[in-house]
This record gives sequence, C-alpha cells and structure tokens, in this order.
Amino acid sequence: MYLKRIEIHGFKSFADRTTLELSPGITAIVGPNGSGKSNIADAIRWVLGEQNARSLRGNRMEDVIFAGSEGRRSVNFCEVSITLDNADRHLPVVFDEVRVTRRVYRSGESEYLINQQPCRLKDIHELFMDSGLGREAYSIIGQGRVEELLSTQPEDRRGPFEEAAGIVKFKTRRKETERRLEE
Ligand code: ATP
Ligand code: MG
Repeated sequence: MYLKRIEIHGFKSFADRTTLELSPGITAIVGPNGSGKSNIADAIRWVLGEQNARSLRGNRMEDVIFAGSEGRRSVNFCEVSITLDNADRHLPVVFDEVRVTRRVYRSGESEYLINQQPCRLKDIHELFMDSGLGREAYSIIGQGRVEELLSTQPEDRRGPFEEAAGIVKFKTRRKETERRLEE
C-alpha cells in the first residue's frame, strides 16, 4: 500500500484545488517557511478523521477552511481526498484503490466518503485500524511526537506497538462488546 494522490481544495492555505501525485518510495516536500508543507500533513491527518482542532494547529474546526488572503476571498467549504494504492490488499477491502474524502462547510455540516460513497467516521476508523495509518497511528509522526513516544508512560507508549502488531481492531471490538453487555 502506498499514498498515491492527495487532493486539497479550500483547506488552510490551499485555496485552489491542488493535486499531488506521489510515487512509491520516499517523497520529500520542501519549500520556504509558511509555504504550506505542514498544512499538507495536517490535511492527511484531517481526512483520516482528526477531530481535535488544536492538533491541527487551530482553535476551532472551521480554522481548517481557507480564511482568505490578500486579494483572495475566503471560501465556504474545504475538501481533502487521499488515494491509497491497495493492490496488495493491505486495507481489508476488495478495491485496488481506496479514496477517502472529508468535506466540511462553515455551517458545520460535514461529510466523509470512501470511494465516493458517504460513510461514517467510524467506518474510516475501522478501515484504517491496524493498517498503521489511523488517526492516532504511528505513520504520521509530528514535531514533538518522537520525544513523546520516548518519554511517556509505558502504557501510553504501547499504543503504536499494538497498532503495528495489528491487534487494535480486536481490542476495540472487545471493548464495544463489553459495553453492550453492561447496558
Ligand atoms: P515551516 O517551514 O515554517 O514549518 P510550512 O511550510 O510548514 O512552514 P505551514 O505551517 O504549512 O508552513 O503553513 C502556514 C501558512 O498557512 C501560514 O501562512 C498561514 O497563514 C496559512 N494558513 C493556515 N491556515 C489557513 C487558513 N485557514 N486560511 C488561509 N491560510 C491559512
Ligand atoms: Mg511546518
């Protein structure tokens, strides 16, 4: 599995629809300060279901929508899609390509889609659970995260290892079942 394409429209500094085509292997994104490199990483985390505006370096979720710049009006919605090559079936679905989309309007309305089909946030979480790509997974290591992984409590550090070992799915299902039994 590899990240094949990132489409960003109206997200943070990306007012225009921008498509990044990636190849297998290593991609480095370079550019001057403030040119939008971190915004690309934010876009990836956002489309994977990030719910915490602060971890996307904003105060409210609305802050991810292009707020306007000199000579350019703000926009009313933003949309990010990532396309993953799934020829190796790393993700547990029958598609060779998986395209995940998230869209949000200033009014607060939001939408998730998997291969063009509307879905719930929960479906996105389940799709990526144990793939190493989930919202909290180890595949996106932001500034400061390395230290966090080294210095936090052993219980906290276990998360990325469980994700890598592929057992998060089972633990989540067990928790859900236990909750249901308690009800
Ligand atoms: P550095 O090298 O300093 O880390 P960078 O390339 O990672 O820089 P980013 O942090 O991705 O830069 O981009 C910051 C820019 O994005 C700032 O100019 C900021 O004004 C702009 N920006 C962030 N959110 C929005 C928004 N909602 N609307 C318009 N512009 C935004
Ligand atoms: Mg940056």
